[in-house]
Amino acid sequence: MANMSLLKNPMPVQEPLVRNGNFKEVALGYTEDQAIDEANRCLGCKNRPCVGGCPVAVDIPDFIAKVKEGDFESAYQIISKSSALPAVCGRVCPQETQCESRCVRGIKGEPVAIGRLERFVADWHMAHAEGAPEMPEQNGHKAAVIGAGPSGLTCAGDLARMGYKVTVFEALHLAGGVLVYGIPEFRLPKAIVQKEIENLKALGVEINTNIVIGKTITVDELFAKGYEAIFIGSGAGLPRFMNIPGENLKGVYSANEYLTRTNLMKAYLPDSDTPIMSAKNVAVVGGGNVAMDAARCAKRLGAENVYIVYRRGKEEMPARNEEIEHAEEEEIIFKTLNNPVEILGDEHKCVKGIKCVEMELGEPDESGRRRPVVKDGSEFVLDVDCVIMSIGTSPNPLIRNTTEGLDTQKWGGIIADENGQTSREGVFAGGDAVTGAATVILAMGAGKTAAKAMDEYIRSKNA
Ligand code: FAD
Ligand code: SF4
Ligand code: SF4
Repeated sequence: MANMSLLKNPMPVQEPLVRNGNFKEVALGYTEDQAIDEANRCLGCKNRPCVGGCPVAVDIPDFIAKVKEGDFESAYQIISKSSALPAVCGRVCPQETQCESRCVRGIKGEPVAIGRLERFVADWHMAHAEGAPEMPEQNGHKAAVIGAGPSGLTCAGDLARMGYKVTVFEALHLAGGVLVYGIPEFRLPKAIVQKEIENLKALGVEINTNIVIGKTITVDELFAKGYEAIFIGSGAGLPRFMNIPGENLKGVYSANEYLTRTNLMKAYLPDSDTPIMSAKNVAVVGGGNVAMDAARCAKRLGAENVYIVYRRGKEEMPARNEEIEHAEEEEIIFKTLNNPVEILGDEHKCVKGIKCVEMELGEPDESGRRRPVVKDGSEFVLDVDCVIMSIGTSPNPLIRNTTEGLDTQKWGGIIADENGQTSREGVFAGGDAVTGAATVILAMGAGKTAAKAMDEYIRSKNA
């Protein structure tokens, strides 16, 4: 029966002041009844506006129709035709600016909770699926993928399904890219990512970890080893700093290092080999999803006060609304319209404070957002013993510096056409390495497109 409620079924969550002391997943997921009730809010629109908002065009009305019927496995099969990692996307896609932003139910009330339904369906499948996917028939051709993030894994999976022998080369000791080293366990449990990776291995994808392309082996050497096409999905993991005095003090981290130590190296476990110095008061500089993740991790690692220091207002923050709300509920303190100018140290060269100035918003700049301007005489010091810089990242120059004929943008992004083809024949690229820091679903979409182009390229070479 149609559900004309203006509101989404709320997502059951851990209580804020319980969850800010543990690393377990915050959102608990819909029950079957809640999922069917939410699916009944979908009108099954003939012109399917929601599909246009999804970068990989998931067949949203059709999968939701199956949820209405309680046929969750068929719903899963429909989603997985377009999305390689639905359990991941259902959790981390910025649905409010993508699929859900186009939902007609959002005109008067809240849109259908498409992301929550996608997560429900993927989790249901994982809990009930038997056995691993079957290994496809091999076509006798070899392709290499650099980087085991969402773009590389998607590209590898699609090529493997087409029959290629695919080898993934990953610099870190675990596959998953940002899904394992960046996004914290409480937003994306690592067991889910691991399960997806096991499925890829069952398709015959070989994942070689601890191999840094450009150091251990180069792109040219991969060609010499018989790989016929190469996909670069090496992400944008090089952190930016503000270049203000004091950034070299003990207790200053890039968000990438802080999150990698926390998520990948499990610094929150008592027996971790790479613990993080415990801090009482932490300032996280930045206003994106990465800053929210770092702040929420710092709270869980035992900090009493965690500040988000951001130079614009809350409305201008690039982080998802849901992440900002979750951070606020977990008692993260927002110091908006504040900009750091110096990090202060004690006699041991440890952080003892961060000097900031207050800002006000002036005229819009080239990004369309109002430019922050310093308020005269507004300098003040925030007492903190840890500072986490989260003001953006760019692609690491290692691969472009060691690969002949690979053109890049001034800021480091690899130049690739709409099919992922780079300036170097046989080399394709996608995800953050091309676009700069973006989203999981866009990276997956780029991996998918490149896999198709690589297949065409290898076929044409062998025709
Ligand atoms: P990555 O995920 O960065 O993977 C690249 C991989 O390449 C890494 O494993 C890296 O180790 C490896 N690599 C790099 N150089 C080499 C080399 N030389 N040799 C071998 N391997 C190499 N997006 C969302 O949609 N929703 C979110 O909620 C969200 N939250 C985020 C939170 C954080 C903390 C961060 C950092 C990002 C977040 N993002 C989010 C962005 C999203 O994770 C990225 O856009 C996405 O992971 C990009 O995928 P990718 O495959 O291009 O690169
Ligand atoms: Fe929405 Fe992301 Fe799923 Fe597409 S993949 S339907 S954008 S949640
Ligand atoms: Fe359902 Fe909304 Fe898509 Fe219409 S726009 S089919 S109501 S999800």
